[in-house]
Amino acid sequence: MNSPVRMLLIGAAGRMGKTVVDLVRSDQEINIVAQCDLGDAVEPPMQNCDVAIDFSHAGATAEICRAALRHNKPLVIGTTGHSQQQRRTVEGAAGSLPIVFASNFSVGVNVLFWLTRKAAEQFGGDFSAAIIEAHHKMKKDAPSGTAKTLAEVLKATQKIDNEIPIQSIREGDAVGEHTVIFSGPGERLVLTHRAASREIFARGALRAAKWIMGRPAGLYSMQDVLGL
Ligand code: NAD
Repeated sequence: MNSPVRMLLIGAAGRMGKTVVDLVRSDQEINIVAQCDLGDAVEPPMQNCDVAIDFSHAGATAEICRAALRHNKPLVIGTTGHSQQQRRTVEGAAGSLPIVFASNFSVGVNVLFWLTRKAAEQFGGDFSAAIIEAHHKMKKDAPSGTAKTLAEVLKATQKIDNEIPIQSIREGDAVGEHTVIFSGPGERLVLTHRAASREIFARGALRAAKWIMGRPAGLYSMQDVLGL
């Protein structure tokens, strides 16, 4: 058996960070060799890992990319809520490093991305699309990164003409719900994904961290990891 992948976890004290820590306990293929949270320098521990997983805050992304570039380490970025500038920083770093950048690591949501693209391609001009997303009230960004990705998937098909409205709900403790509604003359198609546990995102991030080892530089999505 190969030796376990040595991972740096950034945002380790947060909801997702703690979920990753719990999951790694029962995973023999990956070890957490260092953890960072707000106020910790990222660069020293970056030196001694094989890969870094980030579930922190968009404000940390530039420092994480700098440290990864300096030590030539692959990244798995799960953080959402990036500005255009912060996204460009990630894209720039992916010119030299392999990076999985995914607004959602769950298998179900990545299948939802795929279904949304297929449905939009079939419906074409008579149909409009809208997105509704609901999350716990502690979530900092709105709309969610997943809702923005769904809107990008719809726009990329060039079949849906309307500006896609996104309704965001921040209530209770919902882990994450995303609905795409296609409305046409006399009919509607509603696609919904409901996350019941944060473990689905953590499991996907670990899968991405193992997958990215030894890949060439580039910006990869979770759909690349899953082969969708
Ligand atoms: P959280 O607020 O519970 O945790 C974030 C953690 O990051 C906190 O411990 C905070 O102290 C730390 N942090 C903040 N700024 C930092 C910095 N500059 N450097 C290092 N650490 C810093 O949030 P969460 O629910 O764990 O979510 C974290 C991020 O992951 C959010 O952007 C969220 O939208 C995203 N998320 C992504 C997925 C996915 O599948 N891609 C799934 C769930 C959440």
